[in-house]
Amino acid sequence: MRMLENYSLEALNTFGFRVSARYFVEANSVEDLREAIRFAAEKQVPIVPLGGGSNLVLSGDQDALFVHVNIHGKKITSRNDDLVSITAGAGENWHEFVRWTLGEQAYGLENLSLIPGNVGAAPIQNIGAYGVEIKDYFHSLEALDLQSGALKTFTLEDCQFGYRDSVFKHSVRDRFIITSVTFSLAEKLSPKLDYGRLKQEVEQRSGECSDAFTISESVCDIRMEKLPDPLVLGNAGSFFKNPVVDECLLRKLQTDYPDVVAYPFEGRWKLAAGWLIDRAGLKGFRQGAVGTFNKQALVLVNHGGASPDDLLGLAHHIQNVVHNRFGVELEIEPRVY
Ligand code: FAD
Ligand code: NAP
Repeated sequence: MRMLENYSLEALNTFGFRVSARYFVEANSVEDLREAIRFAAEKQVPIVPLGGGSNLVLSGDQDALFVHVNIHGKKITSRNDDLVSITAGAGENWHEFVRWTLGEQAYGLENLSLIPGNVGAAPIQNIGAYGVEIKDYFHSLEALDLQSGALKTFTLEDCQFGYRDSVFKHSVRDRFIITSVTFSLAEKLSPKLDYGRLKQEVEQRSGECSDAFTISESVCDIRMEKLPDPLVLGNAGSFFKNPVVDECLLRKLQTDYPDVVAYPFEGRWKLAAGWLIDRAGLKGFRQGAVGTFNKQALVLVNHGGASPDDLLGLAHHIQNVVHNRFGVELEIEPRVY
């Protein structure tokens, strides 16, 4: 295992910021991770686990050991008439993993096609799209405790999954490196198509009978039409979480903006953050080398050569404008280091 010093993270963060890590290592096994823990302790630097770098903002050079979790492998561990249990290494590419599960006739993850990043990061924010979240098909995960060096199993209950949220963002933040994730997938496909234009897209492709690959490809098509490819335009997907507000604020907003986009959410209302930014006149807005994407205002983009300060300055500006106009706070979704 080679510990590298002053390593450029430009290719390992999807904003493409030119920042470096004081130390960097590729970990291909749990033993490599244990060695990384020893090294970080000796150098007295924190460890930052890294997958595809698609949900973080590196705000400058990092005085830390960045560990690229590269643990591979995927296997079916059991199968019965209803469920297929599949375990995947944290370093597996998420989208390739999803497509592999479909080929194995194990269903449930098709709506989560084309989400960038790796399997190991998926539980951190309980990734979700088109009405499905990983918690719907999650069984358990294994993670290495950075304090004790022991492997621990987290069940569905232990993970405390919420909307783009989990225990790994709260009480055990920065304490564990996820090494593998086990999913309980379905033996029979139950299409979930009642989100946006997914049903229409699937029907256009295949008529009434939708197979899992058709759904996956429809999701990919919709995403490619609306979201920027990080290899072309640096971004980290949705930059803000959709805010959840109470009925009273929603009613107030509806008086001024009858077309406000809101969905019922656990007894409250989830507002579409992209709609708020758009309605504030900031869709396609550009401030120097950064801006909001012209097809989805919730995605902040690096037009080329931007610095993390440019991006965070824009984020702050958007938060202010949205707050002044709608009285709603926008919370940044990616982790800022
Ligand atoms: P990274 O960015 O590398 O890491 C994210 C966080 O997880 C960091 O804090 C990191 O330290 C931690 N982490 C990473 N690996 C591990 C590990 N093995 N153990 C412990 N901690 C770890 N998200 C959605 O939920 N739904 C979407 O539809 C979606 N669409 C996106 C579209 C685009 C174009 C982009 C750029 C992003 C999108 N995202 C979406 C956000 C992102 O892809 C997901 O959050 C993804 O799971 C991040 O994976 P990653 O491997 O890139 O994580
Ligand atoms: P969209 O379809 O234009 O929808 C806009 C917003 O309305 C979304 O944020 C979505 O909330 C909400 N919404 C739409 N239909 C809904 C329904 N039937 N029930 C409940 N909420 C509904 O969104 P988009 O930008 O094109 O993204 C499509 C999907 O991919 C969304 O699920 C989105 O979360 C996901 N995505 C996530 C990221 C990320 O980085 N987190 C990036 C890109 C796309 P939800 O977001 O809660 O679904």
